[in-house]
Amino acid sequence: MMEDKKILTGKKIHVKVNGKIIDQKNPLIIAGPCAVESREQIIHIAKIVKKYGATALRGGAFKPRTSPYSFQGLGVEGLKYLKEASELTGLPVVTEITDAKYIDLFNTYVDVFQVGSRNMNNYSLLKALGKVDKPILLKRGMSSTIYEWILAAEYLAEFGNTDIILCERGIRTFDTYTRNTLDLAAIPIMKKETGLPVIVDPSHGTGRRELVCIMTKAAIAAGADGAIIEVHNDPDNALSDGHQSIKPEQFKELMSVYKKILTQQ
Ligand code: PEP
Ligand code: MN
Repeated sequence: MMEDKKILTGKKIHVKVNGKIIDQKNPLIIAGPCAVESREQIIHIAKIVKKYGATALRGGAFKPRTSPYSFQGLGVEGLKYLKEASELTGLPVVTEITDAKYIDLFNTYVDVFQVGSRNMNNYSLLKALGKVDKPILLKRGMSSTIYEWILAAEYLAEFGNTDIILCERGIRTFDTYTRNTLDLAAIPIMKKETGLPVIVDPSHGTGRRELVCIMTKAAIAAGADGAIIEVHNDPDNALSDGHQSIKPEQFKELMSVYKKILTQQ
């Protein structure tokens, strides 16, 4: 079945972010707003998530929005603010790249290049990112099978980059109660099939703030090597994904639960 898999054979691949190998004991916890909205906002949230134990900062600058009339992100300006927030807190920056033409720009400002769900099948982007010398966070396509996701990772590897962190972020199903259906079984499967670290995105995976903490715990039980969590200081007025963004106090609580689980393992 997996005859197209040549590089990601299941043998463990160590991926480092900020000099540390990511695994269950040393999880990658990426936190921050869905989108960078202003310099003050990203610096403010970066300081909060750092204080509570995040190990990386998220925030979209180039936002692939479903509607062309929704906030599209601050672009290069957003990348500059992320870099400044990173320098102030020591948190590496994870942000989405939507086009290969931005690679040089991203090399200047970004530590981990995120490939979003909408671009998992963008093979020209994957080939270009294969030549990048930084880790890639590869999200699962919202309608992609596990096999297609594995092959998307194989594209990056084949073109030279095996520093890949996989992210289960939910798939489209017939159910509309949650934004997506978080496929937790994909976590152990992807770890075994590829040997790569796998993290979870319970924010996009559920679309509901009240489910973020509990699904993070479920993902840890399933073997996740970390999580990417949307955190906003004022979610009701966020420019994107406020309904699924947790507040700083909720992130603090989530991190204390996470740490407790880690010490019990
Ligand atoms: C995001 O993380 O900001 C995002 C757009 O996620 P996804 O690509 O999973 O929809
Ligand atoms: Mn979002």
